[in-house]
Amino acid sequence: MRSVTVLGATGSIGESAFDLLMRSGGPDAYRTVALTGAANVARLAEMARALRAEIAVTAIPGKLAELRDALAGSGIEAAAGRDAIAAAAARPADWTLSAIIGAAGLPPGLEVLRRGGTLALANKESLVAAGRLVMSEAQRNGARILPVDSEHSAIFQSLNGEDLDCVESVTITASGGAFRDWPIERLSRATVAEASCHPNWSMGQRITIDSASMFNKALEVIETHEFFGLDDRQIKVLVHPQSIVHAFVSHADGGSIAHMGAPDMRHAIGYALNWPKRAALPVPALDLARIGNLTFAAPDEKRWPALRLAREVIRAGGAAGAVLNAAKEQALDDFIAGHIGFTDMAAAVERALEMCAREEGFGTSPKGLDDVLAWDEMGRRNAACSAGAA
Ligand code: NAD
Ligand code: MG
Repeated sequence: MRSVTVLGATGSIGESAFDLLMRSGGPDAYRTVALTGAANVARLAEMARALRAEIAVTAIPGKLAELRDALAGSGIEAAAGRDAIAAAAARPADWTLSAIIGAAGLPPGLEVLRRGGTLALANKESLVAAGRLVMSEAQRNGARILPVDSEHSAIFQSLNGEDLDCVESVTITASGGAFRDWPIERLSRATVAEASCHPNWSMGQRITIDSASMFNKALEVIETHEFFGLDDRQIKVLVHPQSIVHAFVSHADGGSIAHMGAPDMRHAIGYALNWPKRAALPVPALDLARIGNLTFAAPDEKRWPALRLAREVIRAGGAAGAVLNAAKEQALDDFIAGHIGFTDMAAAVERALEMCAREEGFGTSPKGLDDVLAWDEMGRRNAACSAGAA
């Protein structure tokens, strides 16, 4: 029986993974080692009971008693806190999904790589903040990373049997998010509620807002650079409102191989779960006759400055990715809290990148977790809304 761990089980990706595991036999088909979550311990306990997990861990120490109560009589261990999540990730499991949101996903992801495990990676932030470190830990320990971000799963699948050296470029698509068709002047007044509605994908709130600002695509451009080792000129973005073509790989002979499918994350999660085989998944079949038109347009970098910042970060190298990711997380917190406007997010990230570059330069790529965390802290500090006034 294969053993599995899901980090960030109670989120949007985690729920989709849970759905796939339960549909394919649940505890009769998989031995679940660990499930982790944060505030929603009732749901975490429910999932742990359904999958008969060995341990359930909440990120929040103050929620431990509640988690223990919810697991009473089940024989499932309960634990809490950052270190407990990392320790749960370090427990041997054949397949581990990292579906934690944000830089908090980096330490447990590294634990999986250090034990030579298979890491299905939805947590793009760990590649953005510490791509070199993540990829080298995987290589050093013979671990495997399977991309779960839909565009990166699409590239991975399109590259099957291809020689990466013959690839001219890869193109990832973006729906354009909630404000694709808004007049640019209106963007500065966009509210949190308006930014939290995605036209095609059902996702957590943070990534949905990042889709509206195109920061999600900016992270994905950097993720593509780090994971596939392509330089920024080889990575293209197209706005594709239907979200059917997720990515395509273009070769020197003029041919391109595209990956298509309904916008349902259970495809990419299920592909990583069953890899290298394919299994039937509860994803709607593609009905192109019904969809009728697939349209594409070059993104407007005035509307979405995040894309320009991603390219600058790739060219700057060193710790610039850690700063961009942290600054973006801070700016997003400030937007959600109502302290700054929608378009102020990109301005805050740009300011943080400039201030860090001026103070320290971006140095070399972070070699260890402490190094990443120091850059992360600097990125957050310089992006915080008070930094603008200082
Ligand atoms: P979400 O906010 O819905 O869920 C996040 C999960 O992480 C939850 O289980 C939450 O309890 C946990 N968590 C939150 N803060 C934590 C912390 N500090 N420490 C430990 N755990 C914490 O997020 P999501 O939309 O499911 O996204 C998860 C990851 O997958 C992100 O990296 C996102 O970029 C990536 N991703 C998501 C989608 C999607 O469709 N939602 C698509 C592609 C990639
Ligand atoms: Mg994506």
